Amino acid sequence: MSDIALIESAGARREPPTRAGAQFIAGGTNLVDYMKLDVARPDTVIDLNSLDDSALRRINIQDTGIRLGALVRMSEVEDHNLIRQRYPVIAESLGLTATRQIRNMATLAGNLLQRTRCEYFRETSWGCNKREPGSGCAAIGGVDRQHAILGTSQKCIATYPGDFAQALVALDAMVEIEGKNGLRKIPVVELHQLPGDTPHIDTSLQPADVITAITVPAGPWAERSHFVKVRDRTSYAFALASAAVALELDGEKVRDVRIAIGGVATVPWRARLAEDTLRGQALDEQSAELAAEAAFSDAHPGRHNAFKLDLGKATIVQALMETKAMQV
Ligand code: SF4
Repeated sequence: MSDIALIESAGARREPPTRAGAQFIAGGTNLVDYMKLDVARPDTVIDLNSLDDSALRRINIQDTGIRLGALVRMSEVEDHNLIRQRYPVIAESLGLTATRQIRNMATLAGNLLQRTRCEYFRETSWGCNKREPGSGCAAIGGVDRQHAILGTSQKCIATYPGDFAQALVALDAMVEIEGKNGLRKIPVVELHQLPGDTPHIDTSLQPADVITAITVPAGPWAERSHFVKVRDRTSYAFALASAAVALELDGEKVRDVRIAIGGVATVPWRARLAEDTLRGQALDEQSAELAAEAAFSDAHPGRHNAFKLDLGKATIVQALMETKAMQV
């Protein structure tokens, strides 16, 4: 769901809970949740809200792009008129997340860094390589209806649970990170790590790294951008499938397109194969369906989540056609 903001030391080289060390907290909507469940047991919690740096709380909009401070609350961006006009996929992705009460508390950076909602990760009696490296994966062979079909490994099939990150990936956004060696920037698409053999490492952050801002470049595709989220109920639920689309048209033809999908993958997933099939083509139901096929060409469904193949494809098609129909 939304916020951790334990960028920590933790988001990156997470130690098993019994040696969790210090973790940062901002909105606390994810970390406190996991502390209550005994999944996270930090020795020390460091409150980022006390930092006296207004840039962390500022939304800065320029003609060349936007800069969102890491401590900006999700609802502030969701409500921002210029962002709704110029970067609708961002406002839509945030508005479809969790509840308004949670969005009033949760920060942007914390939302990016939220941990999985895998049921076996959240219940400490189960083996879980992400929570406790080497303890196995109860989801593989268990109930995997909510789990990923893209980017999985033999060690973990947990779905990345967020929505905002997919919007950022579709817009080629960057994160600014303050670390031991100063400030650096990386693309949002490089922030989250595939589970591979080390599913306990969620991100490329290093110990003591703190995300300070998110930057999004302006582009002709940003205004014609849109987010579609499909879930079991229409409020307060995680995505079964989602698609963020940013589109630049040249008449009926696609000049450029960016597609990121969620609810089906272990990380915010850029669907580059789907994009490649569309560039230079007329966008209609048929070409959208071909793109959706390409997006899932390397999918590996489990026992209970094969429905995500058709659902994910239909979500991409819907997102593409609705984005095309936008009046910009
Ligand atoms: Fe843990 Fe990942 Fe397996 Fe879930 S899918 S039980 S998070 S290792």
